[in-house]
Amino acid sequence: MIIEDIYDMQILALLIIGIVAIVAFVIFLIRLWIGIETRCPHCKKKFALKEIDRKLIDKKRISKMERHNIYNKKGKVTGSRDVRVYGTRLTYELECVCKYCCKKTFKMQDVDKY
Ligand SMILES: [Zn+2]
Repeated sequence: MIIEDIYDMQILALLIIGIVAIVAFVIFLIRLWIGIETRCPHCKKKFALKEIDRKLIDKKRISKMERHNIYNKKGKVTGSRDVRVYGTRLTYELECVCKYCCKKTFKMQDVDKY
């Protein structure tokens, strides 16, 4: 019994280490992505750009296919169908300033709303 408990503890410990490692890796990837996204094109420093203004420059109608379940009277799923969902794509021009060299940069950003 005690030996089994120790074995369970080891599995639990490994599981926790695994989860912590995955979370750390995801945070690392997010930081890397933010670092690249906010890199200053003038002085090449990461985590440098700060948004100071945004302007709406374009508005487009967009659509995507979405799968919806079909339910019978009892509430059970009997099948599915594809439904076209319409939305708007807003294109913004972001005005960013570098906190190291103070140069201004313009970036485009698309925001999809459904
Ligand atoms: Zn800079």
